[in-house]
Amino acid sequence: MKLEELGEFGLIERIAVKVARKQGVRIGIGDDAAAIAPTAGFELLITTDMLVEGVHFDLTLSDPFTLGKKSLAVNLSDIAAMGGIPRNFLLSMAVPEYISVEFLDNFVSGMLERGDQFGANLIGGDTCSSCQGMVISITVMGEQLPGLIVRRSGAEPGDLICVTGTLGDSALGLMQLRAGIREGAAVARHLDPFPRVLEGMKLAEAGPPSAMIDISDGLLADLGHILELSGVGARINLDKLPLSGYYRENQPRFIADAFLLPLSGGEDYELLFTVHPGKLSAIQSSLKETGTLATIIGEITASGGISIYTATGDEYFPEQMGYNHFSSDKQDRHSI
Ligand code: ADP
Ligand code: MG
Repeated sequence: MKLEELGEFGLIERIAVKVARKQGVRIGIGDDAAAIAPTAGFELLITTDMLVEGVHFDLTLSDPFTLGKKSLAVNLSDIAAMGGIPRNFLLSMAVPEYISVEFLDNFVSGMLERGDQFGANLIGGDTCSSCQGMVISITVMGEQLPGLIVRRSGAEPGDLICVTGTLGDSALGLMQLRAGIREGAAVARHLDPFPRVLEGMKLAEAGPPSAMIDISDGLLADLGHILELSGVGARINLDKLPLSGYYRENQPRFIADAFLLPLSGGEDYELLFTVHPGKLSAIQSSLKETGTLATIIGEITASGGISIYTATGDEYFPEQMGYNHFSSDKQDRHSI
């Protein structure tokens, strides 16, 4: 069905009927504003992220259901990086005329499935037409006790630097998609990332870590944000970077330097955190309940930016630091 047959309000109604009314949402989709009941004693965490067709996604490479899941996942990842509990979200979209009603049905269904998985309810948004490409903007609201909210700014010299899961898979997946490969673990990681929401909450409750961020622009770029805001440096051990079996097997066909993508490729959506050595065992045992491993990849130093060392103790100099939207020398790494 064409969108013009349905109209703006028909589309909103179609979205609204898919959404089950949840506890804590007093007024949802349909009024001028939503009304939600905050949990006593908790602070509200709010984050927003925009996804632009041609910059963040390519409709020839992702199906609408998966795109819907990913659009919410990247926002949930920011709540996870604060140690927060997701609660509600708003969906705003600018939709070009070539997008069908079926596409939007699947897109919203994918998004609602991801939301349900983490207890996040769609409570409103905005819908308009676009004369050039689809634009998706999502705002997620979460909550956490003030003492458990983890910032980027608390890393201290001597803290261990840890990362959940594995690195580089998503960037490898993007390379594969561009080479015409449509399947495999890395492609799945790129198109359908799973946000580390449960891990973020467990870390907050167990530690909390001294600093945390989610890896969206690449390990070095995102570690750089922690260092800058904490006023510290870091030493990274190259041989400690967690690489998946799939990555080790398939990376050589696509890129010579095995460490380039784990260091500088983006969109892993893993959690990068720093922790005092005395808190490590508490953090590791609480993470165990989620089934996700965290790997110690280095240590915070008093100053000196990021130094990277190989297993033999030689310093390693990476080719690229990470992704930056307005940088003139940015690498060709638009996500999908
Ligand atoms: P207004 O013109 O007063 O801003 P709208 O017609 O834009 O109202 O929105 C009507 C209702 O539909 C609001 O509750 C709004 O939050 C909701 N809404 C609009 N677009 C979306 C969307 N894409 N997803 C979910 N809810 C939406
Ligand atoms: Mg409006």
